[in-house]
Amino acid sequence: MLSRATTSAVANRASSMRRMRRRSAQVTRLYCSTNGCTSYLVTDEIGHVAYCEICGYVRRLS
Ligand SMILES: [Zn+2]
Repeated sequence: MLSRATTSAVANRASSMRRMRRRSAQVTRLYCSTNGCTSYLVTDEIGHVAYCEICGYVRRLS
């Protein structure tokens, strides 16, 4: 009983960590591809806007 609760708690923590890592990977992996631009977009501090340092393209994040 106790061991099962501990196992599920560890599993929950691991899955939530996976979710966070996947979400942050999506944010940092936005591809610009504007007019053939081959760089990744950079998100600002508040995370509402992603912009390209090369061509200046700005994409609003929902
Ligand atoms: Zn660009």
